[in-house]
Amino acid sequence: MRRAALGVLFVIARRRFLVEDHLVTPPFGCGCDPLCDACVSEQIAQLRGVAQRRGETWAQAIAAVIPIDRRWPHTERMRAIARRKVGDLSRDARLLELLADECVIGAARWWNRANERAG
Ligand SMILES: [Zn+2]
Repeated sequence: MRRAALGVLFVIARRRFLVEDHLVTPPFGCGCDPLCDACVSEQIAQLRGVAQRRGETWAQAIAAVIPIDRRWPHTERMRAIARRKVGDLSRDARLLELLADECVIGAARWWNRANERAG
């Protein structure tokens, strides 16, 4: 009984030691907050496609209600909407701005292609 209790304490102490000395890799990034340059690069690479796809879906939804008779409007209002579309993907302000850029890229690409096809 006493030996078992000591064993549990040893496991807890060892785990704490590993985490505190950063020998255990956190599931995402290096644990930096705000994200360091390396983590921003890694995460934008992983999330770029998701953000662009959300932009495409957004443009398609707009096209369902208004005619595609002009180029994509790069306005502050559209930018604010893009920021909301990716708001759940990160808590890091710098990464969120980059993801909003990608969302706009996806939306504008889909919209402007449709605009070109429409003549
Ligand atoms: Zn980092």
